[in-house]
Amino acid sequence: MPDLATRPMRGAAFLDRDGVLNLDIGYAHRAEQIQWVEGAAKAITLLNRQNLFVFVVTNQSGIARGFYSEEDVNRLHTWMTAELLSQGARIDAFAYCPHYSEGEIAAYREVCTCRKPAPGMLLTLMKEWPVTRETSFMIGDRDTDIAAAKAAGIRGHLFPGGNLLRFVTETLGL
Ligand SMILES: [Mg+2]
Repeated sequence: MPDLATRPMRGAAFLDRDGVLNLDIGYAHRAEQIQWVEGAAKAITLLNRQNLFVFVVTNQSGIARGFYSEEDVNRLHTWMTAELLSQGARIDAFAYCPHYSEGEIAAYREVCTCRKPAPGMLLTLMKEWPVTRETSFMIGDRDTDIAAAKAAGIRGHLFPGGNLLRFVTETLGL
């Protein structure tokens, strides 16, 4: 975790995962299921160059539903981090919500404060990293992403699909 006292404050780009970085095939949890969205790595590199933190915030109710484990998710995110880094794109942190109120797995069956549209994942990252709220935003492909952004006090941009680099370039006016 970064030292809040010594690191300068920066804006953050909060990115949804499925449907923004990789095609949303439903409950992807292994590397071979990841089909990158066109322009995803280049979009992240651009955000890096804008001196923004890049965070991924993803609902993973597949854990509560018993489809896969937290270990699977962490392994996949480690792989995604490395794949992107090999293309010069840096993700600063991943956050995922493992809960679902009607899940099969009792340990994860709860109404939590982190499952989007709740803003818990964003708020936790804002607490743990030196984030400037005013210059931060979220990009997601669902209304629940936008609602989470609003609840966290930041702008939300709805990604309609297609090329993520183009969308980020146009959205940020670059
Ligand atoms: Mg999504």
